Amino acid sequence: MTGGTRALAYVCMYLMCSTGMCATLSGLLEVASLRRYLPGSSIRSLSAKVEEIMQKSDKKQPSFQFLRLGDPKLYEVSQPFMLPSEMPLAHQTLQLMKQATQGMGNVGLAAPQIGILKRIVMFEVPAKHPRYKTDGVAIPMQVLINPSYKPLSDEQNLEWEGCLSVPGMLGQVLRYTDVEYQYTDLEGNICVRKASGFHARVVQHELDHLDGVLFPLRIKERDMRSFGFTEAVMASSAFLQSRQES
Ligand SMILES: [Zn+2]
Repeated sequence: MTGGTRALAYVCMYLMCSTGMCATLSGLLEVASLRRYLPGSSIRSLSAKVEEIMQKSDKKQPSFQFLRLGDPKLYEVSQPFMLPSEMPLAHQTLQLMKQATQGMGNVGLAAPQIGILKRIVMFEVPAKHPRYKTDGVAIPMQVLINPSYKPLSDEQNLEWEGCLSVPGMLGQVLRYTDVEYQYTDLEGNICVRKASGFHARVVQHELDHLDGVLFPLRIKERDMRSFGFTEAVMASSAFLQSRQES
């Protein structure tokens, strides 16, 4: 299929969705995820139409499904944004990510989780969380474009993690305790920041998504006793003990 034919097919798919035949956010985002085949002007117009449809469907509470464990796309390595030319695309991707997670109460999201294989993540570290061991320090929303990180020491810690792409489940994962990460922000500035504890864990978890790694792949020694349904894990002695230590 040529680029033009492919673009036409996606526009047709969009029109089907806009008629209400398949007006779910997942369908719209599937269209959005294919925008990488479209030229810049088409990306802009398609994005605007996706936004328009999303706003119209707000009251209908459309069902939305993130890509989940087992979807081959989640295991692919995402492409970097070509900057500065693709900065508008980064902003549009972020807009879709925010719309997709509105009211979800999640800590972070990476673009591949909504089917866009580009290197951008967003997260907001809460001071407290019902499932995750935090450090009591809230960190406002951060958006990282083309991020990378390096550990600042060999020290690691073992804690429970969850993920929108692995719904209803938790797993114990070893992560570096202290990291330094580098990224481009939404204004195009190169930024370097240090992170410890839960903040560092969130950074490592989200950046893993960009390299096609989900947290179950990092479960310590592949021990499936460190992986389970959220409610069962939270009632377990191992989980309760880890919370008493915090
Ligand atoms: Zn995740």
